[in-house]
Amino acid sequence: MAKRIIQNEIQCHSCGEIIHSDHVHDFKWCDCGAVGIDGGLEYLRRSGNLHDVVERSMLIDEDALAACMQAISWADDTGRNTHGKVLAIIRALRQHDLLDMNKFGE
Ligand SMILES: [Zn+2]
Repeated sequence: MAKRIIQNEIQCHSCGEIIHSDHVHDFKWCDCGAVGIDGGLEYLRRSGNLHDVVERSMLIDEDALAACMQAISWADDTGRNTHGKVLAIIRALRQHDLLDMNKFGE
């Protein structure tokens, strides 16, 4: 299953700053200049001392992302409010086994 990048993010182990790249040419260095990030949601590019990076990026299977987008379309089409949209997304994530169900019980 092909995956899509949904968050391109690292934390610098030296200075602690969390940096993310929002779009393909959004290149950033952390505060101390040890590590850099680029690529947005297209690719994960790292620069600098790669031993200083805590990887925080998130990827998702394309079918799960499509299910989340369909959930939003369904929620829009059926007039759901923000709460209803959030619940639709959560159900889509559950359907794709992407939730820790131990955290959704009593
Ligand atoms: Zn740093």
